[in-house]
Amino acid sequence: MKTPNKNRTTFLFVIGVLLLLPVTFFRLSQQQIANTRNEHLVMSVLWFQTSAEMRALSYQAFNIAKMRIDHDIATNKRKRKKAVLVDIDETILDNSPHMGKLIKDNQAFPFAWTEWVNRAQAEPLPGAVEFLNYAASRGYDVFYVSNRSASSETEGTLKNLKAKGLPQATDDHLLLMSVASSKESRRNTIEKTHDIVLLMGDNLNDLANVFEKKAVLDRFSEVDKVKEQFGNRFIVLPNPMYGEWEGALYGYQRGLSDSLKNEMRKAALKSF
Ligand SMILES: [Mg+2]
Repeated sequence: MKTPNKNRTTFLFVIGVLLLLPVTFFRLSQQQIANTRNEHLVMSVLWFQTSAEMRALSYQAFNIAKMRIDHDIATNKRKRKKAVLVDIDETILDNSPHMGKLIKDNQAFPFAWTEWVNRAQAEPLPGAVEFLNYAASRGYDVFYVSNRSASSETEGTLKNLKAKGLPQATDDHLLLMSVASSKESRRNTIEKTHDIVLLMGDNLNDLANVFEKKAVLDRFSEVDKVKEQFGNRFIVLPNPMYGEWEGALYGYQRGLSDSLKNEMRKAALKSF
C-alpha cells in the first residue's frame, strides 16, 4: 500500500518528466536537423554515381565536343592557335566521392576538399580523356580553367590530371583561381593568343560572364538569348549536386542556416 509521501514523490516525478519533455523533444529535433543537413543531397549524389543516364550524358557531351572539333577543322582555316577550354570539377574529374564524404560526415563544403584534391584520386568523367587527347592530337591547346585554389591545389590537380592520362597537364595549361572567382579574365588572357573554339563546363559561369550572380529567372533568360550556342561553342555537363544554380536559389546569401536553406528550397518548388 502506498503512503501519502510516496504518492507525492510519484506525482512530482511525473510533473518533472512532463515539464522536461518539450526541452528533450526540442533538443532531439535540433539534433535531427544537424544530422540530416545533407539529406537533400543523397539522391543527386546517387544519381551522379549510379545512374547509367549520367554516364550516357557525359559521353554525349564529349561526342558532341569531338564533332565540333571535326567541324572546326573542316570549315575554319585558322591562322591563330586554337583552344579548347574546360572546367575541371564535374566537367573532367568526378568529385562525387567528396560529396559522399560530406553526407556521411554530416559536413559542409569546404570540409576535406583540399585533402581530397591532394589525394589526386578523382576519376575522369566518361569520355573526357579520349576527347581531350583527340583535341590535343589535332593541334588544339587544352586549357583547364578551374576555381580550385592556385596556392594550395595546383600540385594535387596536376598530379591527378597526369595520373588519369589527361593531355597537356602542365602549369601553362592550368589556370586555377588566384584572386577572382570569375573566369572572364582568364578567358581573356587565353583569347589574346588563341581562338577559343569550345568551352565546356557543368556551370554556366564556365562559359561566359553574362550568367554570373543572376537570379533564377534571369539565368533562364540569359540561356535563352544564346540558345544556339549550346552544343555548338558551349557544351554543358550535368551536375545536380551543387553549382551556381544553387547559389541563385538562395539569392547568393552566404551563411544561411540549414533550416532556412531547407525552407527556401521548399518555397522554390513548383507544384499545383
Ligand atoms: Mg565545375
